Order: sequence, then structure tokens, then C-alpha cells
Amino acid sequence: MNEIQRFSFDNTNVRGERVILTDAYQDIIKRKNYPLSIEKLLGEFVAAIALLRDIVKIDGVLSMQAKGNGFLETIMAECDELQNLRGIAQWDETQSVPNEIDLQDALKDGYLVITITPKNGSRYQGIVELVGSTLSECIAQYFLQSEQLPSRVWLACDGTACGGLFLQSLPEGQDQDSNENEDKDAWTRITHLASTVKQEELLTLQTEALLHRLYHEEVVLLYSPKEMQFGCSCSRQRTLEAMASINADELREILIEQGSISTTCAFCAETYDFTENELSVILGDQAHTH
Ligand SMILES: [Zn+2]
Repeated sequence: MNEIQRFSFDNTNVRGERVILTDAYQDIIKRKNYPLSIEKLLGEFVAAIALLRDIVKIDGVLSMQAKGNGFLETIMAECDELQNLRGIAQWDETQSVPNEIDLQDALKDGYLVITITPKNGSRYQGIVELVGSTLSECIAQYFLQSEQLPSRVWLACDGTACGGLFLQSLPEGQDQDSNENEDKDAWTRITHLASTVKQEELLTLQTEALLHRLYHEEVVLLYSPKEMQFGCSCSRQRTLEAMASINADELREILIEQGSISTTCAFCAETYDFTENELSVILGDQAHTH
């Protein structure tokens, strides 16, 4: 199962989403030899970005990255409008990684950066300090600060699959008539029931079965599921462009030693090889500015 599915509760302003990823998640973690606890945290990041990407109304890429001064140097996940997911973590391999990760320890004085990169238009970044010991708490805090829409997220990962459940209370409807029948306790009741979800349920049950288990007394409207997969946005051209930020003298040195410059994408392990001829634009450009 690699899919995301939206749902809403009839006669309420509560909407939700559920994501479950097996192969797509395994495709992400197999690129590197991660310790299990980092593998699980990366799975939570991947599940979270899938959920958040689906509610952001933009045509483009959403990414979420945490950085800090702990043993975990950086961890990030990204999702585009075609449900392509990728993610990566970097840690200090000289330090021992605990079996259970507390975000505060892993990323000391850390912060979470959420970046929206639309296909057209400019990039937008939101930054929040990392509070709480889990990613779910940090995301709830992010929503509180930025969107002001009450939102909750439940995330799970066991190293084989990752999954998540997201709930959000939308602003009151504009429709005057509907307000009279409004279900005032819906948010409290629905989030309370979601809090009883078990990790194993998030990681194995089909969405319909999961929602039935949690909400058999509610009228739940299910939308069509969308397939998700691992996918990397790297390309020869983008890699070449990224090389422009490397010092021209360093590039020339490598060219002299090795005859060409080879670089490997950290997300998908694709290797790109560039000859001096191909790099001449970059080397030439920098020569003018130095
Ligand atoms: Zn790649």
C-alpha cells in the first residue's frame, strides 16, 4: 500500500487524511545504511510531508527539513504535486545513536523549516523552533503559529512501513443556515477518538478499515485514494547548476586529477559525470567574477 486518502465527517467542519507507505518508504531508506531509530524518524518525516503536501493548495514541491546541533545533523522529506516522495537524513556517525529518538536530544536547539516551491512564483519558507519531543508535536505547533487552524497529526513508522493520520478543523462555514445544525463538539470528539489509534493500525489497516475502527458512529465521507511513490527530482541539468556554487579552482583541481567530475545524488544514488567541456560554462562564469 502506497496511498493517501482524504475524508471528511458529515455535518462537521472537520476534514482529514490518511497516508500509508510501504514500498515507497523502503525505496527511500534503502539508499543509505541508517540506524533503525533514524530510519523510523525519517519515515515519520515522509508520512508527514505526504499529508501536508496534500492540504497545501499549490502546484509544486513542499519540503520539510529539521536542523540542529545534536547528533542528527539534518533530516528532510519532500513531496511534489505528482505524489513523488524523497527524503534523507544525515547524522554524526562518530556518535552513538539511541534506540529511541527524542527530537530535542537529536537536534539540539533545532528548528523546522517548511518550504513551498511553487512551479510558478516565488518560494515561501516558514520556520518554527522545535518544541516537544516528537515530530507530531512540532507540526501541531507549526500550524498553531502559521495557519491558526486547529490541526493534529499522528505518525508511525516501524522501519518497514510508515503511516499517518491528519485532522484539521476548518473555519466555520459561511452558510448561515448550516450554523444552526453545527456539531460544536465534533473537533473534540473526533480528535479524542483519533488519539486511541495504535501504531500497528496506522501501519497495516486499509484507510476504510482504520476509519471504521475509529469512527463507526460517525458518518465519514471518503474521497478517492491517490497513489504515492518514491521519486527524485534530480537531473543532469540541475546537478550542473548546483555545481556553480562550488569554487572554480576546486573544480579545476579535481578535473586535473581525475579528468572529469563525478557527483552522486544523495536521494536516489544516481551518478552524474561531467567533463571539462561541460563544466566550461561554470568555470568561465566564475573566472569573470573573481
Ligand atoms: Zn536524485
